Amino acid sequence: MQRRDFFKTSAALAASAALPGCNVARGGFSDDLLLDWRPYTGCLKYTFTIATYSRTETPLVLVRLRWRDYVGYGEASMPQYLGESTASVTAFLARVAEEVLPRFKDPFRMEEILTAVDSLAERNTAAKAAVDIALHDLTGKIMGRPWWQIWGWNDADTPCTSYTIGYDADDAVVNEKIDEASWTKVVKVKLGMGEEQDKRMINLIRAKLDTVICVDANQGWKSREMALDMIHWLAERNVCLIEQPMAKEDLDSAAWLTERSPLPVIADEACQRLADIPRLAGAYHGINIKLMKCTGMREAHRMATLARALGMEVMLGCMTETSVAISAAAQLSPVARWADLDGNILLSNDCFSGMKLTEGKITLSDAPGIGVEPLKPFEEL
Ligand code: MG
Repeated sequence: MQRRDFFKTSAALAASAALPGCNVARGGFSDDLLLDWRPYTGCLKYTFTIATYSRTETPLVLVRLRWRDYVGYGEASMPQYLGESTASVTAFLARVAEEVLPRFKDPFRMEEILTAVDSLAERNTAAKAAVDIALHDLTGKIMGRPWWQIWGWNDADTPCTSYTIGYDADDAVVNEKIDEASWTKVVKVKLGMGEEQDKRMINLIRAKLDTVICVDANQGWKSREMALDMIHWLAERNVCLIEQPMAKEDLDSAAWLTERSPLPVIADEACQRLADIPRLAGAYHGINIKLMKCTGMREAHRMATLARALGMEVMLGCMTETSVAISAAAQLSPVARWADLDGNILLSNDCFSGMKLTEGKITLSDAPGIGVEPLKPFEEL
């Protein structure tokens, strides 16, 4: 079924509430799970540069899942290195609407629904996350509870989020980016451009800010000896962790560094999904879980559980995303030692309300599902 026809069918179902035999429940609302979506361009407040590329906007797809009179929201964010696009995400969502959702009338059959979505095709992790987040939002709303409560966690345990300072010209870092980060207790700094540039960046920031720093090398350091020297240098400058110091494939170097590093070494690019975790145990101190990499909240919850069972630390990360995906990730934050959930703050056009920060600390609400609301009607986003 094409998307246009799908909407026609949905509208016809809603309009035919009084007809016997049609699949419509109380109040004329459909018992079908109805999925629709809107491509959205996220505009960045600043040009964002890391070791491998630079950009000013980011493609997103916002998703709405309806069942009876309940509405759940989801989102896909597609950074170029993950290989997804607006076209691939919308094509995948059309397949979910056509091939998966018509088989289910009960949104609480989440295991079967999300397994069927995951089985449609390899990869497509952001598109899968969009459906997963919307389904969690929907079922949480039906239960009247946010997911952090459904999972049984304590909202007092949430960490502060870090705020990312990307690579830039020295004067832009000093005059704009450091001031922009002054509200937070933890700054995340993107390094991996080489020893001299990396040290200059840290010195620039340290001259103006005394907050804790998380360092993300984004695989940029080329030798384990140089990486270890850098880590020792950084440990003397109130740095709390090192994310992905070297190439994701180089597990031997990661293990070598982890054995010697005075700071926690966290896998990001090396850790995509649940199945990656067992081989990373022992090679890294912890993992960075991102909904867009791991297909969403269901798998993220499993990853957090497995990592902690293996004695690994959990960090939560994000792409550049609206408050939809950020608030979904925030539901997991009580079990994260560190959170890097600043994607919505980096946008100048976030179109949802959701997760709040109190002096940088993630502050979870009692709002059901993932606790988000669109700032205007979904059709107008
Ligand atoms: Mg990273």
